[in-house]
Amino acid sequence: MDLEGRTALITGAGRGIGRATAVRLGREGARIAINYKGNAAAAEEAKHLVEQAGGAAILVRGDVAADGAAEEVVKAALAFGGGRLDILVNNAGITRDNLLLRMSAEEWDAVLDLNLRGTFLVTRAVMRPMMKQRSGRIVNVASIAGVVGNAGQANYAAAKAGIIGFTKTVAREMASRNITANAVAPGFVPTDLTNPLPQQVKDDLLRQIPLARFGTVEDVANAIAFLVSDDASYITGQVLVVDGGMVTA
Ligand code: NAP
Repeated sequence: MDLEGRTALITGAGRGIGRATAVRLGREGARIAINYKGNAAAAEEAKHLVEQAGGAAILVRGDVAADGAAEEVVKAALAFGGGRLDILVNNAGITRDNLLLRMSAEEWDAVLDLNLRGTFLVTRAVMRPMMKQRSGRIVNVASIAGVVGNAGQANYAAAKAGIIGFTKTVAREMASRNITANAVAPGFVPTDLTNPLPQQVKDDLLRQIPLARFGTVEDVANAIAFLVSDDASYITGQVLVVDGGMVTA
């Protein structure tokens, strides 16, 4: 796999899965625009790790759920790529878990705003440059919650299922321009997002994983690296589940 000369924008790449993806794509030779929201120290560390892996990176601070900010983030990534943007990974995401009976409209909106609306805003902003290039690779980070649902995550599951429908539509609309759009659907991966879950919940989850271990951020980054590579040039509109066999539907 060789991504030499390509420029990638990864949203939410300061920590977790986004950071591992930045390091992985950087190691393959891509120039990485690392978007993050507010944790500058974590983003600096991500940039350092990309550079250590032999890649080049810039930091682009911005809340991709906010009107106008997504466009600014894309503009900065394009400038870093000398006017090109070859790869977009829509990874930024949050959870606000609650049982449906107790879920507030604020919890619903916060999750839908970033996970789904943010993905829409950033993807729309990269369309023109990718269409002009007549090439592009888009990978959206969904979740198995968006495939099979998950108690306590009505908002998150709806957003992630929405991302899957969105991805399939982008794939259809953009295929004639040689732009592919795919999703990855991770299972349970220890990160700052999942660490607050009670140990009992983690133990129960582990028992449901046929491969008998949690995923790693690198497991997900590997799948994303494949989908943005030339090896995946005939794959579009797909959902690649990375969950140790938890979900087989
Ligand atoms: P994480 O460790 O909590 O990292 C989240 C990253 O997103 C951070 O870099 C954060 O920036 C950034 N971010 C948050 N809000 C943002 C915003 N409004 N605009 C731009 N960036 C923002 O999360 P993760 O576990 O790596 O999750 C990454 C993706 O994988 C998410 O879409 C998540 O839903 C999905 N996923 C995760 C799992 C899992 O088990 N971990 C499973 C399935 C799917 P700051 O550092 O500046 O705060």
